[in-house]
Amino acid sequence: MFSFFKISRLFYNNIPHKVLHTTKMAKSKFEYVRNFETEDRLLPNCWIVIRIDGRDFHKFSKKHNFKKPNDNRAIDLMNHAAMKVMDDFKDISIAYGQSDEYSFVLRKNTEIYNRRGTKLMTYINSLFSSSYVFYWGEYFKEEKLRYPPAFDSRAVLYPTDENLRDYLSWRQADCHINNLYNTTFWTLINKGGLTNREAEQKLCGTFSSDKNELLFSEFGINYNNEPEIFKKGTILLRKKVLNPKSQKNKTTIIPLHEDLIGDKFWEKHSEILNIGATTFYEYPEDFDLPYLVLRQLNI
Ligand code: ATP
Ligand code: ATP
Ligand code: MG
Ligand code: MG
Repeated sequence: MFSFFKISRLFYNNIPHKVLHTTKMAKSKFEYVRNFETEDRLLPNCWIVIRIDGRDFHKFSKKHNFKKPNDNRAIDLMNHAAMKVMDDFKDISIAYGQSDEYSFVLRKNTEIYNRRGTKLMTYINSLFSSSYVFYWGEYFKEEKLRYPPAFDSRAVLYPTDENLRDYLSWRQADCHINNLYNTTFWTLINKGGLTNREAEQKLCGTFSSDKNELLFSEFGINYNNEPEIFKKGTILLRKKVLNPKSQKNKTTIIPLHEDLIGDKFWEKHSEILNIGATTFYEYPEDFDLPYLVLRQLNI
């Protein structure tokens, strides 16, 4: 049941502030300053992408001894914080994260907070940031949080499905390019004994194929065999999954680490663009369910 306050709040959040401001209310002489506020309703019928990115995580990752190039604890924590956001904001149909960034995609037709850009950016960002701190200890057991991290946030509108797909493809391609560079860079340092400067110089002007070759010929590393989570980043989708314990289906946010650039992903998960009902996701048999899924299933 909605309480009176809940209903009035819902009402309040969905009417343009202009209307509120012009209705007759007991006003103080200071009230006029409200007129300095600007309208920030985002254009209708466009995908809304809210992207957050860690502030100076180069330093933050150093200060908290992140394993280089990829610290799994940090990735899991980012994914956990993003799941919390997606769980609270049901109009987020897909989220994508890599490194210290996360993109949240709100449905084209969302009317949440009357599509007010600042509300969406600040709520999503602050919920993400506080969750990052809240769940820190679950992942960084011995590593104490030394100072409060911060994230920036932006809202970008994409009018067509193609634009949205290209946006997500851009972020995933960025993940791959950075990961190939970082993997080679840190291998040269950790296994090749080079200094940061020497590694940087060695990689200057190289192409992807050069880095693949260098990894293989000098260190016997086949980049293709690196974990998918590092190469592809993390895609979050809302799906029904079978709870192996209760044998019941439960709507769950699942992390995937697969290609989203090709058509296959979008055909398989057609509900993202077509705004359909939540579909069932079948994990392969004898596949260990990820911790973040088990947690949601209370296992
Ligand atoms: P919205 O999401 O729209 O901001 P809200 O519930 O946060 O909704 P506000 O108008 O911001 O609504 O009101 C803040 C609420 O928090 C009030 O109900 C107020 O009583 C409560 N509150 C804030 N600070 C304190 C405090 N120090 N002690 C007791 N109550 C507080
Ligand atoms: P800005 O404030 O401009 O965003 P930044 O230092 O955060 O500056 P980014 O380009 O956002 O710069 O880079 C993120 C940094 O965080 C990189 O240096 C990356 O190595 C580090 N980082 C993020 N996640 C991880 C992780 N899981 N493991 C190791 N390092 C990570
Ligand atoms: Mg950053
Ligand atoms: Mg970044």
